[in-house]
Amino acid sequence: MVNENGRGAVAVLEAYNEDPALVLQMLRELQLRENRVSTSSIAALAEGLNLPETKIRARVDFYSFLHEAPRGAYDIYLSGSITDRMLGVEETAAVLCEGLGVSLGEPSASGLATVSMASCTGLCECGPAAIVNGHAIQGVDPERAREMLRLIRAGAAVEDWPLSWFMITDSLQQKGPLLGSRLEPGRAAERAISLGPEASLRALELASLRGCGGAGYPVHDKWRKCRNASNEANKVVLCNADEGEPGTFKDRALLNSYADAVLEGMTVCAVTIGAPTGFIYLRHEYEFLRDRIQQKIELRRRQNLLGRNILGHQGIDFDVEIHMGAGSYVCGEESAQIESLEGKRGIPRVRPPYPVTSGYRGRPTVVNNVETLCYAAAILEHGGDIVSHSGDEPGWKLLSISGDCARPGIYEIPLGTPVRKLLAACGGSGAHAVQVGGPGGTLIAANEFDRRVSYDDLNTAGAFIVFNDSRDLFDVAANFTHFFAHESCGFCTPCRVGTRQLARMVDKIADGHGARLDIRQIKRLNKLMTRASHCGLGQVSAVPILTAYEKFPQYFSRRIHDAEYTPDFDVEAAIERSREITREEAKAR
Ligand code: SF4
Repeated sequence: MVNENGRGAVAVLEAYNEDPALVLQMLRELQLRENRVSTSSIAALAEGLNLPETKIRARVDFYSFLHEAPRGAYDIYLSGSITDRMLGVEETAAVLCEGLGVSLGEPSASGLATVSMASCTGLCECGPAAIVNGHAIQGVDPERAREMLRLIRAGAAVEDWPLSWFMITDSLQQKGPLLGSRLEPGRAAERAISLGPEASLRALELASLRGCGGAGYPVHDKWRKCRNASNEANKVVLCNADEGEPGTFKDRALLNSYADAVLEGMTVCAVTIGAPTGFIYLRHEYEFLRDRIQQKIELRRRQNLLGRNILGHQGIDFDVEIHMGAGSYVCGEESAQIESLEGKRGIPRVRPPYPVTSGYRGRPTVVNNVETLCYAAAILEHGGDIVSHSGDEPGWKLLSISGDCARPGIYEIPLGTPVRKLLAACGGSGAHAVQVGGPGGTLIAANEFDRRVSYDDLNTAGAFIVFNDSRDLFDVAANFTHFFAHESCGFCTPCRVGTRQLARMVDKIADGHGARLDIRQIKRLNKLMTRASHCGLGQVSAVPILTAYEKFPQYFSRRIHDAEYTPDFDVEAAIERSREITREEAKAR
C-alpha cells in the first residue's frame, strides 16, 4: 500500500533511531512496505535526517532495487546474466510480460505486477532465476512462469507459492580443506586469542592466505596494517558478502551452509586487529539468507562467541550486524561498500587513505570477502597445513562453475589447476570457450585450456563459465558490455559516457550495421577508459568485446563491414580532459 503522506517514513525513521548512516536500510524497508520510495517519503526522510531531499533522491536513483515510481504488488526481477540467458530467461520474460500485459520494467496499469531484468541474482547454476518480492526462485522456465501467472491472478501471496521453488541447494560438487571440514564454533577464535595477534598473523602468512575477492592481497599484511593503524579500540571488520560478479555464487553457499565459519573468521580477524565492531554487507539478492545468518549471530551471542568478554576473556568484545545492499555491483569494491555502509551512494573513494587506516566512519577497517574469512578461520583452527598441496602455487580457491557443463556447482580446487582438468571434473567436455572470472575476467579459447587458475595466470574471484560451440561469443561479449553500462556508478566521465558508447557500438554491430572502424573506435575508447577511469569497472569495460574479437573473429565477421577509419578525436587530449572533469567533480562532491 502506497503511503502518500510519508507516515511510513516516519515509522521507519523511529525504527532506525533517525541515524543517517542507516538511511539505506530505511529506504529498503520503505521499498518493501510500499512498493516504492514515494516523493512524500523522501521529503519525510529528508526532514527527519536533516538532509537535503536531493541527497535522499540521489540514493534512490543510485540503487537498482529502489524506485520512486510505484512497482507492482508482485515485483518480479528475472536474472539477466549470461548464464540465465543461456538457460532461456528471455523466453520466461516473454511469457510473464505477455501474461501480465506489461513491458519489461513497467508495472501493469492495475499495479498488479512489474517484470524487470536484474544484472545477476547469484543463482547461475539453477536458473533461469527470479526474485519476487525479495524471495529467490530457481528454475523459472516458461512452464513455471505460466504457473506463476496462475498464482498471481489468484492473488496468492508469494509466501504460499510451492515451497520447492524456493529450495535453493548449494551444489557442492568438489570439496577441499574448507568445504570438507566442519569448524567447531569458537575453536579458531580461542586459538587466535591464545596465540596472540603476532602469532596469528604469522600463521596466516605461513599459509600464504591471500584475499579471495580477486585482488589477491596478502591477508596477514592487510590485517597487520589495520592493527597498527591506531591504538584505539575503534576498528571495524567488514565482511564483503556482496558477490555481484555474474557467474559467481560460491559465497552464497558459504553464507547458507557455512555461516559459522564466516562469523568465526570475522571473530578471528577482530581478535587479531583489535576490533569491537563487525558488519556483514549482504547483497540485496541474498535477502533470503538474512534470517538464517541472523539466527547464527544470535546463537553465537548466547554461546558467548559474540558480544562482551568472548569465551570468557575479559575485554575481548566483538559483535556483528547485517547491513543489506540495495542493488549496485560497484559496491563490491571495498571503499564503495564502506560508502554504502555509511548510507551513501556506493561510489569508490579516492585512495589513499586506504580502508585499513581510514574506513567506516574514518575508523581503521579490514574488508575481506566471505571466502577469505572462512579460510582464515580454517587456518587458525587446523593450522596452515590444511591448505597445503603438492602444486606450485600455495592455497585453494572456490569456483562457481556454470554454463554448458553436466555438473554445475561449487568446486574447491588447489590453485594452479589447469582449465582442462576442471572441464573434465564438471562435465564440460564440449567446451569451446571458458570465461574465467566474471565480465571483467578472461575469455579463453580451446587452445588455452592448459592454462591454470591461479593468481599468476587466470585470476578469478570465483566465476568459471563454460560455453560450447552452440554459443555465439559475440552475444556473450555484448551481454557483458551492457552489464558494465548498467552498473557504471556514473561518478567519472570516462566510464559514465564510455560504457554507454560501448553499449551503443555493440548494439550497432549486433544489428549488422557495424564496420571495422567501430572496432578501432572501441580500441581507442578502451585506451582512454583504461587510463582515465576512477576504478576497475571503467578500466575493464571494453575488455570483453575486444577479447572476443581477438580470439573469436568469426562471430564478428558476419556482422561488420570493411570501412576506412579516420580518427575523429585526440585520445591524449581526451584523457587529460576526462581527468580534469573527474577532479572537478570530486571537488564538487
Ligand atoms: Fe563509477 Fe565507473 Fe568511475 Fe568506477 S569507473 S567510479 S564505476 S563511473
